[in-house]
Amino acid sequence: MRRSRAFIPTMKEAPNDASLPSHIFLARAGFISQVAAGLYNYMPLAKRVIRKIENIINEEMEAVGAQEVELSFVTPVSLWMESGRVEKFGKELLRFKDRKENLFVLGPTHEEMMVDLVRNRVTSYRNLPLNLYQIKTKFRDEARPRFGLMRGREFIMKDGYSFHATIEDLDREFDAMERAYKKILTRLGVDFRVVEADSGAIGGSGSKELMVLADSGEDTIAVCSKCEYGANIEAAKRGARAVIPEAPEANFNKFLTSNVKTIDELAEFFKIDPYYTIKCIAKRVVYEDESEIVLFFVRGCDNLQEVKALNATDALDIVDVDEDELREIGLTPGFIGPLDQDKVKHVIDTDLKDATNMICGANEQDYHFVGVALGVLSDVAYFAEIAEVNEGDICPNCDGVLSFTKGIEVGHIFKLGSAYSEALKAEFLDENGKPQPFIMGTYGMGVSRLVAAIVEQNHDKKGCRWTKATAPYMVNIIISNIKNEAQVELGEKLYGQLQESGVEVMLDDRKERFGFKMKDAELIGFPYTIIIGKELANGAVQICDNQTTKKILVPIDNIYAQIMELL
Ligand code: ATP
Ligand code: MG
Repeated sequence: MRRSRAFIPTMKEAPNDASLPSHIFLARAGFISQVAAGLYNYMPLAKRVIRKIENIINEEMEAVGAQEVELSFVTPVSLWMESGRVEKFGKELLRFKDRKENLFVLGPTHEEMMVDLVRNRVTSYRNLPLNLYQIKTKFRDEARPRFGLMRGREFIMKDGYSFHATIEDLDREFDAMERAYKKILTRLGVDFRVVEADSGAIGGSGSKELMVLADSGEDTIAVCSKCEYGANIEAAKRGARAVIPEAPEANFNKFLTSNVKTIDELAEFFKIDPYYTIKCIAKRVVYEDESEIVLFFVRGCDNLQEVKALNATDALDIVDVDEDELREIGLTPGFIGPLDQDKVKHVIDTDLKDATNMICGANEQDYHFVGVALGVLSDVAYFAEIAEVNEGDICPNCDGVLSFTKGIEVGHIFKLGSAYSEALKAEFLDENGKPQPFIMGTYGMGVSRLVAAIVEQNHDKKGCRWTKATAPYMVNIIISNIKNEAQVELGEKLYGQLQESGVEVMLDDRKERFGFKMKDAELIGFPYTIIIGKELANGAVQICDNQTTKKILVPIDNIYAQIMELL
């Protein structure tokens, strides 16, 4: 491509709302342009990167025997009613009516559509397993679209769905897909980690996320210092504590604790470890048609993990409550403790089940109970793992220690089981001629989010540093002075040679200053830039390696061979 003809509108200034390097550079370097919140146009450079990612995905899907399909983006609400997911997805579903008043949804994911495609078409165990996927625009009316392509409302996803006759076969496919996904990310050249995850609104089990490691990642992942264990903090588990602090001893009693409100103050007051205090968190839990205040109990040294709390209550959302609401039901802010079970539901972290000698709020201004054992509530309270793991906790799989790192979720795979096929009555006949619901797996990968994630992991102060597998062009030739005939001649010759060899090459033939062209090249991030400039008088040109920013001087006779070798 000739730069003089290319549609690459680079900009000096970043968009006002851009804070992440990927958003800033993709916008400034002319890859994307924003249309409205969470909506972006992909310009030619972005299309090239997207196509490369898609090609790799297609090759790896082909290799594991998955078949590509393409389903309608507009999906009938009736399918979502069948699966019962309308409420679960809530406002993220963009709904609308056609001229005949039929209700539709812009597809945010395609489980229902894929089950609908397969039901009554695949009817025998003999035709299983089946793995179908597409690479397609998705729409989710995200509450806070942000960070450019990272969290758009309209975005591109590779979504795949597999159908099986047995759980064992699903397990086999799931492992094969995990390997394929790892291969895709390895080929793309990103540093990533596969972690255990929560299944989210789609439901299911055996969920794993593929995380591109980057400081700016929205997800926190807990990783083990010794073994392979890694998990999204929403789902991370921990092993038994290695050291248990010395236990205080006290009979059940109410204690005056004037002005002692925080866990630290409480621990200090009683000279005990926060491990022996109880943190009680009141939240409003929102269900389909109603909501209620729920008390969540964790150890004072722990925090409530909201996704775990959401799963424990099977709720749609969890929101804060103000102090007046708490007082209304008889709770005393700052001193909250167990209350009458008829008034409010209690969810207690499993780590507190057998705990004794604990200290917690007495629901009375300035008072705490000592010698508490929440296990006595076991008939009325609900026990679940709702505490968030902490850095320094023990790994659930070995004696290593957990630490936190940040990641960008670019892929999510999980075992759906038969939840959707049962809801949508999608069945096959098993070996005995008995109808059975399909056993399913689902496999997503964020294609447009990957574009951002690659830049997030690969950039410097000046711009993008594309990996070799994802760069929109591999080589950029800058003719420093377009008025210099020898420079133009060599530039054109090299350009032709490289094109003929199938190299993706850009020729910067614009009538601009060299400095301007170089800045542009660094912003876009071509892996190699050949600078045809003053050195040409001595029979040499420079090759600038974008990864190392090192420049090497190469005699013009060697330049073609040298660049081919680098590629
Ligand atoms: P997140 O937790 O980031 O909101 P999710 O868990 O809701 O994502 P999935 O339903 O698992 O997303 O979708 C599969 C993949 O699609 C994700 O792993 C991610 O890479 C991509 N994706 C999801 N939402 C968006 C979005 N708003 N913009 C861009 N990519 C997205
Ligand atoms: Mg996910």
